[in-house]
Amino acid sequence: MRIAVVPGDGIGQEVVPATLPALTMLSEAFGLGIDYDVFDWGADQWLATGVGLPSGALGHLARDYGAVFLGALGDPRIPDMAHGRDILLGLRKGLDLYVNHRPLVLRHGVVDLYRENTQGLYAGVGGSLTRFGEVTVAIDECVYTRDVVERFVRFCLGRLREQGRRKVTLVHKSNAVPNTGSLWQDVFRREMAAFPELTGSEEYVDSFCYNLVRDPTPYEGILASNLFGDIISDIGAALMGGLGLASSASVCPESGFALFEPVHGSAPDLVGKGTANPYAAAMSLALMFDHFGHGAAAGLLRDCLTEAADSEAATPDLGGKGSTRDFMDQVTALLERELVRRRIRPSTTGEL
Ligand code: ATP
Repeated sequence: MRIAVVPGDGIGQEVVPATLPALTMLSEAFGLGIDYDVFDWGADQWLATGVGLPSGALGHLARDYGAVFLGALGDPRIPDMAHGRDILLGLRKGLDLYVNHRPLVLRHGVVDLYRENTQGLYAGVGGSLTRFGEVTVAIDECVYTRDVVERFVRFCLGRLREQGRRKVTLVHKSNAVPNTGSLWQDVFRREMAAFPELTGSEEYVDSFCYNLVRDPTPYEGILASNLFGDIISDIGAALMGGLGLASSASVCPESGFALFEPVHGSAPDLVGKGTANPYAAAMSLALMFDHFGHGAAAGLLRDCLTEAADSEAATPDLGGKGSTRDFMDQVTALLERELVRRRIRPSTTGEL
């Protein structure tokens, strides 16, 4: 199994390298045979060469790799994020990574947010008119096709059932956005008929956001279109305790190819300080282990990350004084301890 590692921009270049020793350690301990290559796609390459996602990259990834592990894309020198769109949307659309899973790890448990990742307002349909260089008309169309909504809803309901979930909420805005909203409702109701174990509900996105912030405990699984899912995931990150904690997986269920990344961006205000929280990036690796069927490695990594987040090595966003490096050193020390304690690996120090 080969992973394409793309640290990207800003704090992506700090948090991603910091987590790689934990990846290697777990791969060796569990005999997973995971290896990686690092790619320098991002703002520097874009500014130097004008290339975002190199030509042939999608075929290369699909042929030789099982997943991408991405840090962040975003750079103040490229205000319109042209390189980010080229790389990230290129990967999402080019590899048809249509299911975006963002687990909201809250105090009472996990709420699984699933976001449709390829169409809606991000379909790239629209344009603008200008007069004397000034934009006078701007149009972004929200496009959804039935097949895309169906495959997304069907997969997510199946996944929620596998996860033992009982409740699922469709988030929409069909009162104000009736065409795509009604399509989502129709597909959701039809698909739900095949999942009697699940109880479905439907909420308008505005009142849903209000309810989620007031009390997230009634929610188990959430299905949302591209834009709504994007916004809800940042609300979810705030409920979790900050952007440094939220992770995500973008998956093409048919090919099995997936992209794992923290929800946060490049955080230019933190670059070079060495204090960015690597928790979200490392949690994305836990999602990767899960995706490839290595639940034991995923569980162990999650346990050690949770313990490190409560320790003195925690980064400042979590109220600690640790650096990015301190935090991951603590995680790898905890992994060492647990690998021996759980008898996954013999002790190298003679201690148990
Ligand atoms: P971009 O333009 O790439 O989206 P941004 O700064 O607008 O970058 P984010 O990177 O998502 O958006 O971050 C918003 C703020 O959240 C940051 O300025 C930073 O203070 C905080 N933040 C984000 N990620 C982390 C992290 N890993 N650790 C600590 N704080 C973080």
